[in-house]
Amino acid sequence: MEEERRSSKFKRICVFCGSSSGKKPTYQDAAIELGKQLVERGIDLVYGGGSVGLMGLVSQAVHDGGRHVLGVIPRTLMPREITGETIGEVRAVSGMHQRKAEMARQADAFIALPGGYGTLEELLEVITWAQLGIHRKPVGLLNVEGFYNSLLSFLDKAVDEGFISPTARRIIVSAPTAQQLVRELEEHVPETDEISSKLIWEEEVQRFNYTPTESVVPT
Ligand code: AMP
Repeated sequence: MEEERRSSKFKRICVFCGSSSGKKPTYQDAAIELGKQLVERGIDLVYGGGSVGLMGLVSQAVHDGGRHVLGVIPRTLMPREITGETIGEVRAVSGMHQRKAEMARQADAFIALPGGYGTLEELLEVITWAQLGIHRKPVGLLNVEGFYNSLLSFLDKAVDEGFISPTARRIIVSAPTAQQLVRELEEHVPETDEISSKLIWEEEVQRFNYTPTESVVPT
């Protein structure tokens, strides 16, 4: 364990996941297990803030394990009845775009647990940014009990039909367990397509007119 902790190349991972808990306990178990994996490897967490659904479970597990938790929340979502209790450090931003930009800026890699529209949107955006060469941070899909099989089949279909290049398809690293996924992300070497633009991250941040705001709840 100590060896893995020392060898982790990630300082902080961004987790996208459901604001609901899902019907099966295995989804909740996977969120807690992912949190524990991050702790074991000495990796901090950035996520969408709050304590609802799987978001609450993964952040609590990381916090309980003594690693730093950074939640990035748009001011409009800050009321407790929307996001639940906050733990760790909370950074308030002005909107959803700023939240995604800040979460991505803070992370060395991304992991999506099961979730709904919000999770998919966040996942697909960081994949698109990787495809365009805006970042070279690995993107992992925690495919708990095949939850994402139909999405992966769809992406394979898009490759077959010529809408996604085989290189871009390989942006997504998928594994059924947190331990396997984090290990594979550690070993992943990002490839770049010809299409990869000269865009750089800072330019993209400017496009969002993003201005970092101060933390409102220091730990
Ligand atoms: P969903 O997969 O639709 O449940 O959305 C989850 C994602 O959307 C999270 O990663 C959050 O960034 C965001 N989100 C949705 N609902 C909330 C909420 N009540 N509090 C905080 N973030 C939320």
